[in-house]
This record gives sequence, C-alpha cells and structure tokens, in this order.
Amino acid sequence: MRSGVSVLFALLVGCVACAGPLTSSRPRAPLPEPGYHTEYLPVWIDAKFSDKEKGDIRAALDAWDTALNGYAQFIVVSDKIDRPADDPAVTIRRLISKQGLTFNREPMSPETLDTPELAHYDPDADNIMVLSDRIGFRDLHIIMMHEIGHYFISPPVMHVLIKGSLMFPSYDFQPACVDKVTAMYVGEVQKWDWRHMVYCEIP
Ligand SMILES: [Zn+2]
Repeated sequence: MRSGVSVLFALLVGCVACAGPLTSSRPRAPLPEPGYHTEYLPVWIDAKFSDKEKGDIRAALDAWDTALNGYAQFIVVSDKIDRPADDPAVTIRRLISKQGLTFNREPMSPETLDTPELAHYDPDADNIMVLSDRIGFRDLHIIMMHEIGHYFISPPVMHVLIKGSLMFPSYDFQPACVDKVTAMYVGEVQKWDWRHMVYCEIP
C-alpha cells in the first residue's frame, strides 16, 4: 500500500515534469490511478554485449519505463552475466543474452535457426536471445523494444498484425516507440489502463 506521502510526492514529481519544456509532441499521460503498485522487474544482461549494445538495450528498457508511466519499471541487476544461458544449473528469468550463429548454437531451437529471426523471446523463462550476427546495420534499440513488448503481451498475444505497430512481426515496419495499439494490448493483458500510458500514434 502506498502511503499518502509517497502518492503526494509522486504527484509533485508529475507536476514538475509537466512544467518543464515538452520534449515530445504529446503531453505526458496522467499518472496511474491512486493506489496502483509499481511492478519492479529485475533484468539481467549478458556480459558479451558491447558497451554500445548495452546502451541500446538500456535505452529500450528506459523507453518502456516511460511508456508504462509507473505501472512497471525495469531494474537492471547486472549487465555482466557471463554464465551460459544454456547451463541447466542456471535459471535466470528475464535474461537478455547474446547469441550467434557461429557460437552458442545449443540454446537455439531448430525453429530459430531455420527462420530469419533477429531475436527470440522465450515465454517460459521471459528470456530474450539476441542473434547478434544477424543484426547487421539494423537498430538494436528498436529490436529490443519489440522483444521487451513480448514480456507484457505474450502469451496470449504474440504479434500485432498492423504495419507501423511496434509489435508487428517484421523489423522493417516497427517504430521506435510504444504505439497506441501495443499499449492497448499491454493494458488488456496486464490489467493496466492504457489511457495512462505514454504511447505514440501509428502513422
Ligand atoms: Zn516478436
């Protein structure tokens, strides 16, 4: 239960944010209704990612924090995880691991190897595998925003079949923001009010 003081503080922080210069064309959404509980989501990041890649992953997590507007917030516990994700003795939920077609092939299912997937989300463990040698010049930040979206909608929803939605199943049509339809699905699955989220419109 949030105390009255912390709710008041949250409202004050919200007002300070409103008074500052607007950095996007859309004003910030109202904070979730009083009495909500922010869900803190620990995340572990593979040490094999470069600093640039870790920056892109953290930026994607931050973008989701902003979109979720207080309903949930990611906490990066470590970005130096060096244990193999396929070690049966290690069970880490919400691990973001770096995989390649020339190394660490074991954790990849034949389905992943046989399709052009850039990253793979495992709903059983909430883990994300980035297939690093398929990324090329694509933007890892956008790829990660899409994969993180899977945390909140799948199962039951795997993808949104509207071009221009972050959860469209093809990188070429995904925006670098959490769109309104994705926000509505997240709200539906997580029982959060999507109108309190910070989303972009599908062009
Ligand atoms: Zn997907």
